[in-house]
Amino acid sequence: METTVMPNPREDDKMIEAAYGELLEGYLRSNHRKKVEIIERAFKFAREAHRGVRRRSGEPYIMHPIAVARIVSQEIGLGSTSICAALLHDVVEDTEYTVEDIEQNFGAKIAQLVEGLTKISGGIFGDKASVQAENFRKLLLTMSEDIRVVLIKMADRLHNMRTLGSMAPNKRYKIAGETLYIYAPLAHRLGLFAIKTELEDLSFKHEHPDIYDEIERKIRQTQERRTMVYSDFSLPIKEKLDSLGIKYEAKARLKSIYSIYKKMEAKHLPFEEVYDLYAMRIVFDCEDQSMEKSICWNIYSAITDLYQLHPGRTRDWIVTPKANGYQALHLTVMGPDGNWIEVQIRSRRMDEIAEKGFAAHWKYKIGEGDEESELNAWLKTIKDILDNPEPSAIDFLSTLKLNLFASEIVVFTPAGELVTLPSGATVLDLAFELHSELGLHCIAAKVNHKLMPLHCELKSGDQVEILTSKNQVPQAEWESFLVTAKARTRLRKGLRAMRQPLIAQGREMLARWLEENDIPDTNLVITKLQGLCHVGNRDDLCMQLASEEIVLGDFLLKPLRKAAALPVQSSGLFSKIVAIGKKVTATVTPSSKEKELPAPEVKPVNTKQIYRLCTTPDGSNFRFAECCSPIPGDDVMGFVADDGMVEIHALDCPRAQVLKAGFGSSIVATEWATDGDIRFLAHVRVEGIDRHGILQDITLLISTHMGIDMRKLTIEAKAEVFEADLWVRVCDADVVNDLCRRIKAIDGVTSSTRIV
Ligand code: MN
Repeated sequence: METTVMPNPREDDKMIEAAYGELLEGYLRSNHRKKVEIIERAFKFAREAHRGVRRRSGEPYIMHPIAVARIVSQEIGLGSTSICAALLHDVVEDTEYTVEDIEQNFGAKIAQLVEGLTKISGGIFGDKASVQAENFRKLLLTMSEDIRVVLIKMADRLHNMRTLGSMAPNKRYKIAGETLYIYAPLAHRLGLFAIKTELEDLSFKHEHPDIYDEIERKIRQTQERRTMVYSDFSLPIKEKLDSLGIKYEAKARLKSIYSIYKKMEAKHLPFEEVYDLYAMRIVFDCEDQSMEKSICWNIYSAITDLYQLHPGRTRDWIVTPKANGYQALHLTVMGPDGNWIEVQIRSRRMDEIAEKGFAAHWKYKIGEGDEESELNAWLKTIKDILDNPEPSAIDFLSTLKLNLFASEIVVFTPAGELVTLPSGATVLDLAFELHSELGLHCIAAKVNHKLMPLHCELKSGDQVEILTSKNQVPQAEWESFLVTAKARTRLRKGLRAMRQPLIAQGREMLARWLEENDIPDTNLVITKLQGLCHVGNRDDLCMQLASEEIVLGDFLLKPLRKAAALPVQSSGLFSKIVAIGKKVTATVTPSSKEKELPAPEVKPVNTKQIYRLCTTPDGSNFRFAECCSPIPGDDVMGFVADDGMVEIHALDCPRAQVLKAGFGSSIVATEWATDGDIRFLAHVRVEGIDRHGILQDITLLISTHMGIDMRKLTIEAKAEVFEADLWVRVCDADVVNDLCRRIKAIDGVTSSTRIV
C-alpha cells in the first residue's frame, strides 16, 4: 500500500504538524481528561516508525494514523487510550516494532488494543475464503475482549474509504464491497449512524460511480425547489416554536445518496418519484434531562396543530429507545405540496447519541465517576447488545455477509476450529467432515448451544458441537439429507462395513439351509427366494437372515424347488442384476472412442439372472451407452440389446425413456458395484472470464488439491471469455460433481459442468 519516496521533507513536516495540531485541539475540547503527554508520545513514536513511508496518495504515511485518531476522538468520541492506539495502529503490522515495544512504552492496555487491531488488519476478507473466516472470528473474539478495537478499526476503515480514490480499481471494489457488507452494518449496530451513512455512500460511490453521480446531480438540480417547499413548510412551525419559547435548531435532513438509491431500487421508482427526499429535524436545547420528554410532545402537538398527521407513522423512541440507544420522536405530516414529510424531534443529547452512538451517551454521564470505569460501563452496554440473544439485537450478525460466495458457509467447532461447507450442509455433513466416526455415531448437535437434529441445515457463523453415542448406528436414510460427497462416501462406507459381518453370517446360514434341503444355489433360486422374502438383492437377503428379520421356513421349499427345476418365463419378473464387468483401468484413455470397453466377450443375458460383482473379471456382458456415457454413481438402468449385451443408460437419458416405454421387458435394473479401484473417464466443461493464472488455479485444484488424474485438456479463449474441456479419470460421479462444484468456486469461473 505504500512506497518509499521522500521528496520535500519541510512541506511534509508542516502538513503533519498541522494535522496533529487539529487532533490535539479536538481532544482538548472534549470532555475527556487531558492526557496530552501520552498522546504526544504515541504520535512521536508512530511518526518515527513510519518515517519515510508514503501512502499511495503520496502523503506521508503518518497522515493516516493521525486521521484515524481524529475520527476516533471527534467522530466516535473516544479518549486518550483509543487515540494512542489509533496513532499506533499500523506500527506493529507495517514496521519493525513489536507489541512488546508498544507495551514497554505505552502500557498493557494500549498494547492490547494495537495487538487486536494488528490481528484483524488486512480486512475481514483476505485473499482466501479460509482467511476471511479466520479474520471474522478474530474480529468477533477481539470484539468480546475490548470493543474499542472494533471502533478504532471502524475509524481506520472510514479513513481508508475516504481516501479510496488512490487505490487500483480492483482493490477499490473489494474494499468497497466488504465495507458495505461488514462495516456499515456493524457501524449501524454500534449506533454510529453518521459513520454508517458515510461508509454506505462511499461504498456506493465506488461501486456505482455513474448512478452515484447522477443522483448527486439530480439532488443539486432539485435543490432550489426543495428549499422553497421546505421553507413554506417550516416557517409556520418555526413561528409556533418561537412563540412557545423553545430554543431549538431546525434543518432539512436530506436522505443519503445510498438510501435514495435503495428506495429507487426497492420501489422501482425514478429519482423524481422518491418524494421523501428529506426529513425535517428539530433539535432542541434542554438543560434538565427530565424535561426532554414533555418538550418533545409539546413540539409534536404544535406541528400537528398546523399539519395533517399521518396516523400510522408516529414513532416514540423516547420511552423505549432502540436497542442501539437511539432516542427521538418521529411523526409524519402532509406538507403544503401534498407530500408526506417526516419530522424528527430530539433533544441535543439524543441527537448526539443518534450521531455518535454510545460514545456520546457516555459523554453525558461524565463526572459521575472515574473515567475508565465509566468507559467500561458503556463498552459493556455495547457488548451486552452484541451478546444479547434477542433477535432484534443480534440481527447485525445475519446482516454480516461472512462469505461473498453464497455457495459456501463457514461454521465453528466448540474449539474455535473453522470448517467450510457447501451451503445447505447439515449437522451430519459437518460430523462426517470432521471424522467418519463422528458422523457414523452422530445423534444430534448443539447449534449455538441449542439442541438440533441431524438434518438441521447450518448457517454461516453457527457454532456447532457434535453429539455422539456409541449406540448410534448409521442409517441408509441419512443419505437423503447429506450434501457433501465426502459425507455420502463416508456414510456408504460405514454402512457397508457395518453390514459386512452380518452379510457373511447370513450367507453361511443360507448356504447351510440350501444344502440341508437339497436345493442348488443358483441365481434362479436366489431370485425366487428374494421375491418371496420381498428383498431387493442377495446382500439384503443375507443380512436380514443374519439379523433374523427373515427366517427360512419349510413353506419356502416348494416354490424354490420349482424354481430350480423349471425355467420361468422371460418377461414379467423384474429382477435385479448387478451389472458391471471387468476392470477398465488400463483401457480408459482420453478419447471418446475409448470410453467403450474393449471387445467384450458376448454372453447371453437373462433378465432374471443375477451377476456378481465387477471384481470377478470373467468377461463383460454390458457396455456403456454412447448417448449418455454414464459412470459409476449415476442412476442407471440396463437395456438388453439385440446382441445380448446389456446397454447401460443414465436413468434420465432421453433414449432410455424411449426404451423404457417401448421395450419394458428388455429392461433390467442395475446397480453399481465398483470397488473403488476402477477409474472412468469423465468430461467436464468449464466456462468463465479469463484472467491471468486461472488455468493454473484449475489444474492445481484438480491434480494437487484433489489428486485427480487429468488426461486431456483443451482450452479456447475468445476475448475475455474462455471455454475449457477437460477429461479426468474418476471412480464415480460424486467425485466429478464435487470437482465441478470446487472448480466453480474458483474466481472467474462462471460454470463448470459434466458433459454427458
Ligand atoms: Mn490503517
